[in-house]
Amino acid sequence: MKQIYFFSEGNKDMRQLLGGKGANLAEMTRLKLPVPAGFTITTEACHAYQRNNNELSDSLIQEIDNALIKLSKYTNKNFNDKVNPLLISVRSGAAISMPGMMDTILNIGLNDESVVALAKITNNERFAYDSYRRLLAMFGNVVYGISEDIFDQVLTDTKKDNNYKSDIELTTDDLKSIVERFKEIYTQDAHKAFPQNPEEQLLAAVNSVFESWDNNRARVYRKQNNIPETLGTAVNVQTMVFGNAGEDCGTGVAFTRNPATGDKDLFGEYLLNAQGEDVVSGVRTPKPIDTLKSSMPEIYDQFADIAQKLEDHYQDMQDLEFTIEHGELFLLQARDGKRTPEAAVKIAVDLVNEGLINKKTAIKRIDPESISAMLHADFDKAELKKHNSLTTGLPASPGAASGQIYFTAEEAKNAHDDKHQKVILVRQDTSPEDIEGMVVSEAIVTSRGGMTSHAAVVARGMGSTGVVGAHELQVDYKNKVAKINDTVLKPGDWISVDGTKGKIYSGQISTSESVIKGDLSILLDWAKEISDMGVYTNADTPADFQKALDFDADGIGLTRTEHMFFKAERLLQMRRLILAKDATGRKDPLEKLLAMQQNDFYEIYKLSAGKSVTVRLLDPPLHEFLPHDAKEIKLVADELNETTENLENRIDSLKELNPMLGHRGDRLAVTFPDIYQMQVRAIINAVLRLKDEGIEIKPHIMIPLTDSKAEMQWVRNLVENQIKELSTEVDYQVGTMMEMPRACVTANQIAEVSDFFSFGTNDLTQLTFGYSRDDVGSFMPEYIKQGILPNDPFQSVDIEGVGELMKMAVDRGRQTNNQLPIGVCGEVGGDPKSIQFFDKIGVTYVSCSPYRIPIARIAAAQATINKEGQ
Ligand code: PEP
Ligand code: MG
Repeated sequence: MKQIYFFSEGNKDMRQLLGGKGANLAEMTRLKLPVPAGFTITTEACHAYQRNNNELSDSLIQEIDNALIKLSKYTNKNFNDKVNPLLISVRSGAAISMPGMMDTILNIGLNDESVVALAKITNNERFAYDSYRRLLAMFGNVVYGISEDIFDQVLTDTKKDNNYKSDIELTTDDLKSIVERFKEIYTQDAHKAFPQNPEEQLLAAVNSVFESWDNNRARVYRKQNNIPETLGTAVNVQTMVFGNAGEDCGTGVAFTRNPATGDKDLFGEYLLNAQGEDVVSGVRTPKPIDTLKSSMPEIYDQFADIAQKLEDHYQDMQDLEFTIEHGELFLLQARDGKRTPEAAVKIAVDLVNEGLINKKTAIKRIDPESISAMLHADFDKAELKKHNSLTTGLPASPGAASGQIYFTAEEAKNAHDDKHQKVILVRQDTSPEDIEGMVVSEAIVTSRGGMTSHAAVVARGMGSTGVVGAHELQVDYKNKVAKINDTVLKPGDWISVDGTKGKIYSGQISTSESVIKGDLSILLDWAKEISDMGVYTNADTPADFQKALDFDADGIGLTRTEHMFFKAERLLQMRRLILAKDATGRKDPLEKLLAMQQNDFYEIYKLSAGKSVTVRLLDPPLHEFLPHDAKEIKLVADELNETTENLENRIDSLKELNPMLGHRGDRLAVTFPDIYQMQVRAIINAVLRLKDEGIEIKPHIMIPLTDSKAEMQWVRNLVENQIKELSTEVDYQVGTMMEMPRACVTANQIAEVSDFFSFGTNDLTQLTFGYSRDDVGSFMPEYIKQGILPNDPFQSVDIEGVGELMKMAVDRGRQTNNQLPIGVCGEVGGDPKSIQFFDKIGVTYVSCSPYRIPIARIAAAQATINKEGQ
């Protein structure tokens, strides 16, 4: 097995074998760019090392010897040469860039003799001893595990004793004594002398690189980033070029485009008379690359040319490391540069416009989740630094907001309406009756609940900032005070909430708004063009729908009609309806609700401009609409002209031990058919009104919680009879949510009576795991921390379990109707990873909150592109 490749033998496509760094050094060599000669010991050699009980095999040592002979011939330099010694660097490099492993040892080959030769040949004794002390420190740290601090302390002491401000003031004599001191540290700390034999130095360095693949930091990093353990690392051995050999030398790093903005300018920094570590360590302040134009104009032009050549070649923004040795430029590294989300979008679009990549490649390069940061407000960074984070909860709805806190929806609403305050609603949890307070709040914070709790879903739907399940927050409603550890918060106090990170801060921090524009909007248009999956929105109000349309939603995939019932005057009618003794008593409130709902639907349909709108009939348990505490019960009793006692009895009779498993969804249709009938009338009346105005609407009516064909058939009859009573001319669809495990299993039967399916993954996940979606906050973080769950299944679909049920439902549903439209409208409908899976199993569209639409759009396009590539 060939375990070593010279740079001239490899290319960029050999990442698996040569690692990213090695493959790119080979590619640059192939392109005839000035790369110091060297070779790569392969990742297969790393595997062989592991199989050989973590020892370098004789065959590898032999190959290294041969490679050194070849390198000596090529460079005309030799290890141990007293006139022209060969010096090399050793760097690790896996196929995927991976911090945590041993990184770099420079100047290998120096010893007590060759340092003298180096001084002579460069006519620079200071430089030679500076290089030697660097080797001693790096080698000591990496190979013998001596702490860097011990070496640094010697430097610090020397500078202090001599009143020097920076390393450059160290004299040759200082450096000579530092070298001696470093050697003593070896004996004291490692009980071993520094190996004077260069070959021994090299083998020990190679051994350390291989060994570092298995160190703890590297293993943790691999686990977090799903990097396979089997990858292994390569080792790059390269002839040294010196940036620290005089004032006509230097070293730097540069990006071919600005990594923060994406602008097409060389962006980077360099230092004269320095080695690479000085630039990154911050010991000296590097200069902007632009100034190289005046200090070394020829080198600058050559570098700019190479940068452009590499960018064209790799068709992406490059991150380059270079060294200048006595006026000669060398490239030490090229790789795709890390960038901000804004820069990623701009660069991708610019590269398409420049003809370097196509639209699909541009879309593939974008991390969909990173778009989120471009859509929401963020805190002013300088101000944020002055504020302490009080606690962290679940990042339920991204964005940043400051406001004055209130513990009840009513107080929040009053402070907002009467005092024009910016308010934040802080509660243990929220329920539908808090909706008016939630609407006016800049942010919503709860101490309980998970990512699909009421507070989280509503905040996301409205695009408000939200943090839920903040365990350290204690809300004491009775005494009107909240505590977060030692901080006491009272109504009217300011806090700031970062819904993207889940953090809560005390005080007020100013924010900056962001909107979709420019390159992002171009990229999203391309994504729409490419993707074969629809992206719809979950929206309950015209305002939410408008926001979604601004983000170019294909329509509405879910309107939760219950959210329309929580405005004050509607809640009263809803309560009258629920508390009525019989159908006669329900008549009047139903009429009133009908008028209001009809108008809601009219507004939404009107906005739709031909896009499809799916309205779901009433879903939650009725008791959610009823008052809970004594004060409120009294108030409602007065409003309804009822005795408190009667009202309490009625409320009691509606109480359920497990309301989420109880009298809700289509079960309500069976027991209170007039509610669904009213909703259908409202829908059809709105459609007819628009028909009169010349606008054709095909309503999609969705039934929640279905678990059998018989049940679906029963509700469908109810809906269709009602429609027929009003008009025979309306073209409509009646479909069902797929959110009960039983429905998934019997999907072939249910499809016989459904025009479409839409997965309610929130309930489906709840029922598949048996996790209450409103209470998961109390144990989910621990489950994830302990590795029992890889992630929160309410946020990213559980492919093995819930996903399998979904696949079964798709397959069985399509056995009955191979054209059956199938959507996903639970929270995971906006999750990029879940979207890849949904596309694979044949889901037709996803539906998510307005602010997730751009993210879902990119993810959907990526899913289509990946499918084509298979
Ligand atoms: C669901 O269960 O996934 C769903 C979309 O409905 P809801 O969240 O309203 O129960
Ligand atoms: Mg549901």
